[in-house]
Order: sequence, then structure tokens, then C-alpha cells
Amino acid sequence: MTTQSRDRAGSVEEVPSGSAGGVCVVGSINVDEIVVVPRHPLPGETLLATSSTVAPGGKGANQAVAAARLGARVGMIGAVGDDGRARTALSLLAGAGVDLTDVVPVDGPTGIARITVDDVGENTIIVVPGANARVDDALVAARSASIARAAVVVLQGEIPVDASACAARLATGRVLLNLAPVIGVPGDLLQAADPLVVNEHEARLLLADVAGRTDPDADDGRIAVLLQEQGARSVVLTLGARGALCVDDDGVTTIASPRVDAVDTSGAGDAFVGALAMRLADGDELRTAVRFAVRVGAFAVGSAGTQPSYPWAGDELPSAAA
Ligand code: ADP
Repeated sequence: MTTQSRDRAGSVEEVPSGSAGGVCVVGSINVDEIVVVPRHPLPGETLLATSSTVAPGGKGANQAVAAARLGARVGMIGAVGDDGRARTALSLLAGAGVDLTDVVPVDGPTGIARITVDDVGENTIIVVPGANARVDDALVAARSASIARAAVVVLQGEIPVDASACAARLATGRVLLNLAPVIGVPGDLLQAADPLVVNEHEARLLLADVAGRTDPDADDGRIAVLLQEQGARSVVLTLGARGALCVDDDGVTTIASPRVDAVDTSGAGDAFVGALAMRLADGDELRTAVRFAVRVGAFAVGSAGTQPSYPWAGDELPSAAA
């Protein structure tokens, strides 16, 4: 069986189906409803928005789009509702050639993220999990073949944790656990992570959660080492404009991000994770994959939006920082 891989121009190439030897993303699929306001409303107040946009989103979907645009074979396991939003939610996944065979339609709404941005860029976000809450261990276990044949299985914190834990147990390849948002994780899920990927804020929240310690004076490298001591096989911390650092058996490596003029940083972490998964599936060592992923993250902040800002294979990425 074959599926279709696409490039920016929409040209189609036949490739082996699903995630065989490639990337399987088990995660959330949303529609982002973004409204721009002059300021955030007070409780009980009604305000007129200055603009609004509807776009596909959800961490799982974003990461799948990022990996597929860069040329990975990607399959997605998740759920969408029976409303009109499902089509929007899946539009750029389909456009990137992600295999959607394992995306299950369920009764009720597709996941929604209501994002309100004020004129200084401060945002508030309300997530309606919708169909994402229906991605349980039974739904995942029924798709065990798709998970077992992937070189890299990518998980996040926007579906029930039991489903992620089930996927990690079924994986025969590498498990990339992006614990965003931070949710309570069972020990066996954390121990499967190779790597655990978190941003600097999530890293500290997670450490407080799993180790009961805050270490306010610890630097980023120390936080990452402490997280690895909690059981993760390797750890990657993303550091925004500063880049990322990784911890594996060879110690801590810090990798600077290229300097770019940031236009919109939303979804940069998901671009990073998708790129990391793609390169790990290709057999890169962790630090080599991180060197590539920071360039993809930097590319993604250079234009507006989340999925639309992700590069395609062949796009020129910002050069690695010296
Ligand atoms: P998240 O979106 O999860 O908070 P980060 O903000 O750490 O994640 O961003 C992920 C990656 O995107 C970073 O490791 C970096 O490579 C890139 N990135 C983010 N913001 C910038 C920026 N302002 N300039 C250059 N690269 C950036």
C-alpha cells in the first residue's frame, strides 16, 4: 500500500503507507480560533475584536505537519468530531501528505483552542478537548500495528495520559515525549522517553511535579540533568531564542538557535519537535537532530501562524549559529 507525500507546490510522490520506518504521532488535533482584541475583557465585559482567524492546530497535528513537510513518512493517530471544524483541523495534515487512516471520527465537537491576543501580544487560551478526550488506551491499542512499525513515536500532553502510556508500551522504536502541557506522568511513561522534550517553563513545573523540588537557582543544564535522573533516557530543553540543550549519556550539549527577526513564536516548539522526530527517524544522533531542529524552530518564528509557518523540504533554513 502507498500513500502520498507532498511538497510546497503540492506535487505528489507515492511513498510506502503510514509511518513504517517513519514517524507516528499519537496526539491532539484542534481548530485554533484566534481573536485579536485591543485589551483583554474584564469579567462580565463585552469587547469588539479587531480581527479573527480560524486555523488548524493541536500539538499533535502541528508536529505531524512539521515532520511531514520536511519529508518524513508520518502517520497520525487521533480523533476529530462530527462537526464542520474537522475538515479545517485536518486540512494542512492532508496537504502535507500525513496518513490519516488512524484518525477516528467520533460524536461531538472537534477539539478547539480559543486564543485571545491583545495588542501587546499577551494571550489567554481556553482549550476545549472535544474529540481529543476520546483518544483512550483502547483506541490506541486498536492501532498497535501503526505504532509498532514506526521508527519514532511522538507523544504530548493534550490527550489522556493513559493513551500516551499505552502508545509508549506498544512502541518498538524510539519514544519522543513532549510533555506539553505538563500533566501527571506515570513512571513507565517517563522512563520510555528518549528524549523527553520540554521548554524551560515546563521543565521546572515537571521537576516540581515528579521530584517535588523547585531548585530556583539551578541553571538549565542542571534542571535537564535532574529530569534525566527522574528516569527519562535523554532530555531536550528548548530555550526559545537561545536555542536548546540536550542531555544524554555523553552529558550536556548546548546548541544556540540562529538569530532571526521573530514575527510570531506560536508553534515554534511543535516545529522543533516535528523536525527532531524526522531526523531521529532517519537515524541521527540526538545532538545532531537537535542542531537541525533549532534551525527549523527559528524558521517557524519568521512568519505568522503555526502550521503555515513550517518549512518544506528544500526551503532554505537559517544557518546554524556560530
Ligand atoms: P515553545 O514554543 O514550546 O515554548 P521554544 O519557545 O523554546 O518552545 O521554541 C522552540 C525552538 O524554536 C527553540 O529551541 C528555537 O530553536 C526556536 N525559537 C523560538 N523562539 C525563537 C526566536 N525568537 N529566535 C530564534 N529561534 C527561536
